[in-house]
Amino acid sequence: MKFRVPIPTAIRNLRKYYAPQEGRGGKLRLDFNEHTVGCSAAVLRAIRKLDGEQIAMYPEYESVTSRLARSFGVRANEIQLNNGADGAIRQIIDTFVEPGNTVLTVEPTFPMYRFFGEIGGARIESLRYDAGMTFPLAGVLRALRKSPRVFFLANPNNPTGTLLDRAAIVRMIGAAPRTLFVVDEAYYEFSGVTIAPWIRRYANLAIVRTFSKAAALAALRLGVILANPEIIGWLARTREPFEVNVAALVAAEAVAKDQRSVKAYTAEVRENRRMLASALDSLGVRSVPSAANFVLADLGDQGPAIVKAMRRKGILLRSFAASFGSCGYVRITVGTRAQTQRVIRELKALL
Ligand code: PMP
Repeated sequence: MKFRVPIPTAIRNLRKYYAPQEGRGGKLRLDFNEHTVGCSAAVLRAIRKLDGEQIAMYPEYESVTSRLARSFGVRANEIQLNNGADGAIRQIIDTFVEPGNTVLTVEPTFPMYRFFGEIGGARIESLRYDAGMTFPLAGVLRALRKSPRVFFLANPNNPTGTLLDRAAIVRMIGAAPRTLFVVDEAYYEFSGVTIAPWIRRYANLAIVRTFSKAAALAALRLGVILANPEIIGWLARTREPFEVNVAALVAAEAVAKDQRSVKAYTAEVRENRRMLASALDSLGVRSVPSAANFVLADLGDQGPAIVKAMRRKGILLRSFAASFGSCGYVRITVGTRAQTQRVIRELKALL
């Protein structure tokens, strides 16, 4: 028996992407920028309250969408729910990008822009941060003159943690009215900086947010797109009818009602981010100033070995050894005070 189904060129050429390893439960997971404690009691209560009928029924979206719109400060026709921010990114490409169009991004950044762009047959143009992790603004402005179809910008960026200032964003959006600007604010709660209100100012702006980080719902998969009703209307055409599941809906409603626990956690993470950066500094380790819930550190030649040694101690870190610049780049998610103190202690011992 021989498999004879032709494979589309875009899929044949796709680079391999590595999903997180399995078996991470119970470890100190500082490798994927998740919430390091767990979802709130209110979320668990909401999920436990689901009954058999709700699970047997196809999910309904209207009332939750209105509730979430209010919590994001937009109208119901300015928001769309997706299966994670990943689902949002994929659907933006499905809707706005034709094979051969250019998708512009920067690197290093979140790999899904390139991944879904390549699946969609786009040409990926990416500009690199320099060794000091400065955003390549001049190069992006030049690339925007050719009106790429979509520009993806993570702000704060992952894995650098860097935050781009509003003035630079204004210059870029104004330079390319025929380019859809997607500003991925997955880490907004940790930076406190958003341009979401600008969806009423710029016709070509969409904001992506997620419930996977500060809201601690990574396994439930919920992301949202905030944009003007015209963009949301085009997205509605390519939407799967039941992309978001009912557990994610009730959990998100519980999060919207209980912002206190989100705020307490993000405040703690911000404090611990400072503690980690200054500890790295006193160990002589260079790290990139971060506005997110992680810090990118350059552990030098020992980087990959340290990541392995930490794994043996039950602490998971994300190595970027093969990805860019120095082989010593390691991304460390910031969690509670005790967790951060533990990772600092173990790093000290190994360095
Ligand atoms: N955008 C960025 C910048 C991210 O870092 C991540 C998660 N690592 C995502 C989007 C994906 O989030 P989600 O879990 O909602 O798919």
